[in-house]
Amino acid sequence: MFKQIFKLGQNFRNPSLNKIYKFLKASENWTISQLEEYQLERLKKIISIAYESTEFYKKTFDEIGIKPNDIETLEDLKKLPVLTKNELLSNVEEIHSSNTFKKVFIASTSGTTGNSLSFKRNEEADSFNRASIFRGYSWYGVLPWDRNGYFWGFNFTKKEQKKTEILDFIQNRFRVFSYEPSSFNLFVNKLQKATFIHGYSSMIYQTAKLINDRKLPKPKKIKLVKGTSEKIKESYKEEVQKAFGVKITSEYGATESGIIAFECLEGNMHLNMEGVLVEEVNQEILVTNLQLESFPIIRYKLGDYIKLASKNKKCACGMEHRILEEITGRIGENVYGNIEIYPSLYFYYIFKNLDKEKELSLNYQVIQEEKGKLKFKIEQNLSELNKKDLLQEIKKYFKQDMEFEIEENCQIQSKNGKLKSFISKI
Ligand SMILES: [Zn+2]
Repeated sequence: MFKQIFKLGQNFRNPSLNKIYKFLKASENWTISQLEEYQLERLKKIISIAYESTEFYKKTFDEIGIKPNDIETLEDLKKLPVLTKNELLSNVEEIHSSNTFKKVFIASTSGTTGNSLSFKRNEEADSFNRASIFRGYSWYGVLPWDRNGYFWGFNFTKKEQKKTEILDFIQNRFRVFSYEPSSFNLFVNKLQKATFIHGYSSMIYQTAKLINDRKLPKPKKIKLVKGTSEKIKESYKEEVQKAFGVKITSEYGATESGIIAFECLEGNMHLNMEGVLVEEVNQEILVTNLQLESFPIIRYKLGDYIKLASKNKKCACGMEHRILEEITGRIGENVYGNIEIYPSLYFYYIFKNLDKEKELSLNYQVIQEEKGKLKFKIEQNLSELNKKDLLQEIKKYFKQDMEFEIEENCQIQSKNGKLKSFISKI
């Protein structure tokens, strides 16, 4: 029954989806040169749409004297300017294409810094995105209409909650609304019948931990646990595996860019090369959306540090799509010492090193209330040796420029969605 409801809704909302999905299932067997050939064809199309039908790109390309015909190879993309988040936000209208589209959706984001973006997404681009996710599901034997548990924010008003329930029903989905035992246990019961679960990785982790700690019945039918929107910390992996019997799989993307990468069964994050063109410049990601014709996104600085694997790296799954080795973290959050300023990326390295070198896997949150001082909240109980290792690792990065406070046995959770690893109150 859910298949019919799902298909009906999908054919109505996303008429192009079936065709695109078939295309993606075929192109997953392509060689790297076939993929790049397709990318070039799409890139030329997007650049010509951008130049011919948007005020913004017409102006910026003219300023540097570039015409769409000058882009003849994928390398030529480097001739075009980088698009920053600020430029994007202050030129939303001028970036929109004046072409007419059969159907568009309004897509919106609420940035963590409070800058929200709202733009028109043509139906084909929307369908492409969904089909890319469904292709990822297919690797795990999951069908989009299978019963699924969803982890997202749960601070709804009554009216919103009703609307959410209806939308959830259509998608055969249910979600966690609270960690309070009676309601949470109900959610865990529902998980028994679920085929996959997805959402914020911190919430998935929290749920796994509660299932393990409270010795609740473990779901037996889960084929896929998909974490999105947040970094999957090393410390999450073990609890998730223990509670759900499968590893946590990562999907990487953003509203403006579409799906950028999806992890395969071998544990490699393959770029969604048919949908996006990814460049790594100074360890930062630049992304070009190859499908979004209504709102061209070209060489966009998404704000993440990444590392691409070398072109020669082969994956045992057989796909030749390039591999994203690491998403190291968000750019632009500063940590203030007494003298110097440091990137919040350091926390990622500190805890990664502990995990790798000391086999100490910690869940953490760092808070800065004043310059020169940091509070490390750690969920686990620490032995004297653990504490020593942690301190040593912290000092490696901040030297004598910072005072630290370490709090163990902390509750680290977020009530409405995204969990921040670093909170600055400066
Ligand atoms: Zn693979």
